[in-house]
Amino acid sequence: MISRRQFMHLSSRSAALWLTGCHKRAFNSSSAHVVIIGGGFGGATAAKMIKQLDSSIKVTLIEPKQHYITCPGSNWVLAGFKKIESLNVSYQQLLSRYDVGIIHQKVATINPEKHYVTLSDKQKIPYDRLIVSPGIDFRWELIEGHDNSTSHLIPHAWKAGIQTTLLKNQLQAMKNGGTVVICAPPNPFRCPPGPYERASMIAYYLKQHKPKSKIIILDAKSQFSKQQLFFKSWEKHYGFASNNSMIEWHSIPDNPIRKIDIKNRQLETDFGDIFKADVLNYIPTQKAANIAHTAGLCDESGWCPVNHQTSESTLHPDIHVIGDASIQNPIPKSAFAANAEAKVCAFAVVNLLNQFEAIEPLWVNTCYSLITQEQGISIAMVYKLNQQGKIIKVTGAGGVTPNIAEATLTIEANNAKRWLKTIVMDSFK
Ligand SMILES: Cc1cc2nc3c(=O)[nH]c(=O)nc-3n(C[C@H](O)[C@H](O)[C@H](O)COP(=O)(O)OP(=O)(O)OC[C@H]3O[C@@H](n4cnc5c(N)ncnc54)[C@H](O)[C@@H]3O)c2cc1C
Repeated sequence: MISRRQFMHLSSRSAALWLTGCHKRAFNSSSAHVVIIGGGFGGATAAKMIKQLDSSIKVTLIEPKQHYITCPGSNWVLAGFKKIESLNVSYQQLLSRYDVGIIHQKVATINPEKHYVTLSDKQKIPYDRLIVSPGIDFRWELIEGHDNSTSHLIPHAWKAGIQTTLLKNQLQAMKNGGTVVICAPPNPFRCPPGPYERASMIAYYLKQHKPKSKIIILDAKSQFSKQQLFFKSWEKHYGFASNNSMIEWHSIPDNPIRKIDIKNRQLETDFGDIFKADVLNYIPTQKAANIAHTAGLCDESGWCPVNHQTSESTLHPDIHVIGDASIQNPIPKSAFAANAEAKVCAFAVVNLLNQFEAIEPLWVNTCYSLITQEQGISIAMVYKLNQQGKIIKVTGAGGVTPNIAEATLTIEANNAKRWLKTIVMDSFK
């Protein structure tokens, strides 16, 4: 059995060895053009990594936003100790340090047969290999009375930026004694511990400023990531499971939310149960971002099936899909995972273009969640391919925070803050 400490050591070492091995290779020069859709954790990492592996490959990153705002850290904004502006990331380093071409537009369509993408201004960009990392969109058709056009009134805050600020402003405007309802989505969705970190961060804010208030989590699932750690930490900090609990968790997988009355901030479930909120944070059911659907990269699940060794789409050759949009079970949809998948994909693309041998991939993921500003918890895992080409967990590796002693949770919180700085540097700088 590998201990948690041994795992952290092993995973960082194996990632380093993996990179060192690569730099020793002498890549052939190439005039290939790799186009990347989406400048989030997946797309930015892939762009940087391909240029690091073989600078002769032309890489073009297409992303509509002038700067990226990280979702990691955005729950901390709701707690009041992080500014949304501090989550802004520039694309400047990808351009100036790694010579990645950047086009700030949206891709409207992909032509997989003729190998080009069409931008929103109708310009066509040809590619030899395409990497698609567009993140998620929402399945609004599953809810009555609410969609993208009303998300300024009932913010999901599941894409960081204006949505985060809207939710924060509503919390600040709420009366002491108000009720915040968080609707946690069904699996799969981006950031499995995210709704529960959000509840912790809102509780942290309310405890200081509006202590008579309550948070009700209505969950489409019967269990969730790091559940026992969240429950124990909520007991310690927010009176969870007592008569005076600030957080209530209700699991309603057989009684899903069907309808939202925007004006009254009220929701109704399948069985006709009504919940009224002062602040309603409905996090919708998710799917791969729309461009993946219009390009025919998704299966009936709404996500993109891929060959895990290369991340190449099983539906369209020469197109690779990474990050939240891709099916990489049991790896969760996270920024850390998108970064790891992008590295595996970058190696695969460079090797394919140079006709080098494929590598044996290994993925590492850690998800941190803060409980208060100074206390946190985590879950970590290492993944590999089995003989059938399926991703499996490496037995004995990884684990969760071993106990909820104050000193342990303080170390975890410090690690969470350092991790955010590191992953942003690793992906964008
Ligand atoms: C509240 C919250 C907290 C989180 N905390 C953590 C955390 O602590 N740790 C962690 O590991 N993960 C966390 N995550 C998850 C993480 O943010 C995502 O898993 C990660 O961003 C996925 O990266 P991606 O590249 O797949 O997608 P994204 O980061 O969403 O990037 C996709 C990009 O594609 C662009 N795009 C979309 N369509 C097009 C198009 N047609 N043309 C061009 N560009 C397009 C978008 O503008 C976007 O910039 C959190 C998520 C949330 C919501």
